[in-house]
Amino acid sequence: MKSDSFAAALNCIDGRTQIPVINFIKERSGVRYVDMITEAGIIKHLASNTVDSVVKATRLSVEISVSGHKTTSVFLVAHQDCLGNQVADTIQKQQLLQAKRNVESWHLPVEVKCLWLNSEWQVEEVIER
Ligand SMILES: [Zn+2]
Repeated sequence: MKSDSFAAALNCIDGRTQIPVINFIKERSGVRYVDMITEAGIIKHLASNTVDSVVKATRLSVEISVSGHKTTSVFLVAHQDCLGNQVADTIQKQQLLQAKRNVESWHLPVEVKCLWLNSEWQVEEVIER
């Protein structure tokens, strides 16, 4: 593990998500720190075709993480019981994958992955089928 290594998480503001997400990413990627970029129901914005102020601010933060912290992994996070994105879990998982495609279209030198927190606040990876 590099002592100064970073990944980034595009996460909800929900306090129940933070520690499980940080622990999972540190274990999964071997990074020491996770830059946490938050907005209520952030994937709702990132999955949209509209580039709103949240998307703009999020992209700027990711770019700072990439240029300043040499981040090479970006994790998109959604969770059950999200106040900022009150749609069915299956819709949220579809939004995650669409958000991944949109973030990849920014053409930053990063790998983008999708995470889902279930009702036990366990982290599951969501992949395209
Ligand atoms: Zn939420």
